[in-house]
Amino acid sequence: MADVQANSGSLEGAIAALATTPRLLVALDFDGTLAPLVDRPEEARALPAAREAMLALTRAPDTRVALISGRAMQSLMHVAEPPEAVWLSGSHGVEVRLDAAPGVSLSEAEQGDLSRLREILEAAAAPFDDIWIEVKPAGFALHSRSATPQDAEEAERQAHERVSTELPAITERRGSNVLEFSVRSTTKGDAVRMLREAAGATAVLFAGDDVTDEDGFAVLGDADVGIKCGPGATAAKFRVEDPAAVARVLSRLAELRAH
Ligand SMILES: [Mg+2]
Repeated sequence: MADVQANSGSLEGAIAALATTPRLLVALDFDGTLAPLVDRPEEARALPAAREAMLALTRAPDTRVALISGRAMQSLMHVAEPPEAVWLSGSHGVEVRLDAAPGVSLSEAEQGDLSRLREILEAAAAPFDDIWIEVKPAGFALHSRSATPQDAEEAERQAHERVSTELPAITERRGSNVLEFSVRSTTKGDAVRMLREAAGATAVLFAGDDVTDEDGFAVLGDADVGIKCGPGATAAKFRVEDPAAVARVLSRLAELRAH
């Protein structure tokens, strides 16, 4: 593999070591990591090579594959079309599907915050073209990928100011072209921790491309492998260029892990 090292050591060596762990969790972000970023989120699909490598890993012995996404669970299931064997964590860890049906239940107070949050965000988005609100089970995301940078900045500023004033307990997350608000404060780090425990994993591979994936990298230990996909500051030990490079790493791991 000719991929770039972020901080230290060789990725090839780290993957070879990881392949020998007794029980492996392979936790993967979806958008920008397995799937190239697209303007219309519902059209995102994993690269064929990435999907094939993911499926190969589900067949490897003592190996659990999980997708950890900021997407709402329904949206993640729609674009990723994961087989049953793949565990899913949606909405940054708020929603989880292990072997049972997915779900999240909100308290009355959370539901009250959720409806006020919706009013604030709808008011912030309304004056602008191409800014839209994604409904999630425990919050909303303000999407501005197709808007002008000025409109995006203004809508995000208004949303941030009103939410932080009126609903100070709400969790805010900034991604590329998206500002999210949630009545639950879980992160991808919580998702990695929970899935590691549920899988009884002795080592974890986690790959992601966005700022919110840094919470996932932050909970990895010495035996784990963190892979940042694309540019930007990261706490991950390794970096690769794009989803095609992620697919190559996963395919190599599947090959080693099969034996
Ligand atoms: Mg991503």
